Amino acid sequence: MCQFLANKPLKNQILTTEHWTVGIVPDQPYLGRALITLRAHKESLGKLSTEEWQEFQTIVQKLEPAYEQAFGAKPLNIGCFMNHAYRAEPPHPHVHWQIFPRYKAPVHLMGMEFIDGRYGSFYDDDAHRPVDESMVAEIAQRLKSAIDSL
Ligand SMILES: [Zn+2]
Repeated sequence: MCQFLANKPLKNQILTTEHWTVGIVPDQPYLGRALITLRAHKESLGKLSTEEWQEFQTIVQKLEPAYEQAFGAKPLNIGCFMNHAYRAEPPHPHVHWQIFPRYKAPVHLMGMEFIDGRYGSFYDDDAHRPVDESMVAEIAQRLKSAIDSL
């Protein structure tokens, strides 16, 4: 049993392919923050197949223009870290990528203002902004529409 997938049931997905699924998370310090999760259980990037890498490329090629169209985000900071998995003994890493969309200008959505105070620098990994389910659903819907319009 994969502990990562068991602990993080997939929901608010904006894009799912044969090998990957992209979902909006409830913590939104950066508007549109999401995870690109490998659907199979693999523990490191070195274990990815050529097909999985190629599909990841097609996903990024969709997400970059979709985020820019939906919210004006540019660039997308995308990274694979998996550090928390190594706090456990034994560790339980599962390949997933973090998306931190970056914003030069503030964005307003459903009465909330999102400001990227560190634009041009590394994102703030300590920043947190829990939002309610309706906001997560709205963000997901706008990104899905942008992906569909590409
Ligand atoms: Zn797993």
